[in-house]
Amino acid sequence: MKRGQNPGRDYRGVLRELVDGDWRDASGAPLRIPIRAIEVRETLDGAEGELVRKLHGNGKICVVCDSTTEAILGARVTSNIGGDCGTLILRNPKSTVDTAERLRGQTRHADALVAVGSGTVSDLVKYASFLAGKSYSVFPTSPMNAYTTGTASLTDTGIKRSLPAHNARGVFVDLQILAGCPQRLINSALSDVVCRTTAQVDWLLSRAFHGTPYSDVPYQLLAYDEESLFANAHRLRERDLDVMASLVRTCALNGLGSAVVGTTHPGSMAEHMVSHYLDMFAGDAHPGTLHGEQVGVATLSICRLQNRILRADAPPVIRFANLDEAFFARRFGRDNAAEYAACYAAKALDARAAEKWNTHLAAHWDDFTAPMRAVMLSAEEVAAPLTAAGAPMSPQDLGFDAAFYAEAIRGARFIRDRFTILDLADDSGLLDTTTL
Ligand SMILES: [Zn+2]
Repeated sequence: MKRGQNPGRDYRGVLRELVDGDWRDASGAPLRIPIRAIEVRETLDGAEGELVRKLHGNGKICVVCDSTTEAILGARVTSNIGGDCGTLILRNPKSTVDTAERLRGQTRHADALVAVGSGTVSDLVKYASFLAGKSYSVFPTSPMNAYTTGTASLTDTGIKRSLPAHNARGVFVDLQILAGCPQRLINSALSDVVCRTTAQVDWLLSRAFHGTPYSDVPYQLLAYDEESLFANAHRLRERDLDVMASLVRTCALNGLGSAVVGTTHPGSMAEHMVSHYLDMFAGDAHPGTLHGEQVGVATLSICRLQNRILRADAPPVIRFANLDEAFFARRFGRDNAAEYAACYAAKALDARAAEKWNTHLAAHWDDFTAPMRAVMLSAEEVAAPLTAAGAPMSPQDLGFDAAFYAEAIRGARFIRDRFTILDLADDSGLLDTTTL
């Protein structure tokens, strides 16, 4: 579809059914989502006032943007909302709790907030409005999954945290605006959602070994667009609006999937832990790559590992490593050793459990792996859309040293208590980083 052919076209697809309360999961149960309105149109120019006033009433609205997004969309949104509506422009805002608290004070006169921007502006508005007990909506300027989640990713006293906050009332996507954003941001959004396959397999693995509550519903939602998005990723380079809409829906559904099950398990497992490890320990050598770009590369590594272990003819043989606090003190420093040791203890399979599992897996390997094999993609299938879009494919493409990336693969299992393929691989002596 060429731009300008049908500016009013509704690209919401399954999102419309969700917002209207018409969507049913595979068992026939309806799904409630915490967002009242989602619009995805070729352009929203001229519709902003009606969309925002319908959700937030006729009180005072403060549109929050940064200097870039003000020029791209913020000024237009403010002017089209009209009435009692002003703009607050943040200068080089940082994603910190301090900035959000300042923003709360700066917007105390407003009844509701409207974020115009990307992850930073959106999360600052999400958290500031949450603190103030006010509603907010968002007009994104790049695709990502943060707009439909209820958590804010902000740094607090130097540590990046995912803070409980609240959902937007409205998410309003103007595809022409998104089509103008740099290819790198589009590729980062794509790379951040290809992890559906690795996260789902890891979550199933965690359910199998530890009884972690699992839901298929987030994946029923993501199934609508995955195949066509992957097959047409090359058309993102020419900003084809159908494919841009497919990416936007997938990002939105990724965020909503976590919101409806109340955990980030559906879209954040080993591949995200590797990316977080890179951010936590790269220090000055961090090449400044984006979260999504790192997740895409890590997804390929984890996908290779999952395929190698879970598609093998014979099960791995688990051995309890019994890592103690001294191990974690050597690896992460004495100050943090207890925290890492507790994280490991929460999910480690001890000697008795290892023995029990080895017996079970030897007898039932095909049955055990069947649910995972049914949903996992090959690394080639995951690589195809990333290659087609021109996204980074390797640690070298990202600019990370190969030895440090290998360390991230080995160490990622220790930074979170989530059980993933990295735990099974390492405890079975199969974490050979040279081939990932
Ligand atoms: Zn992510």
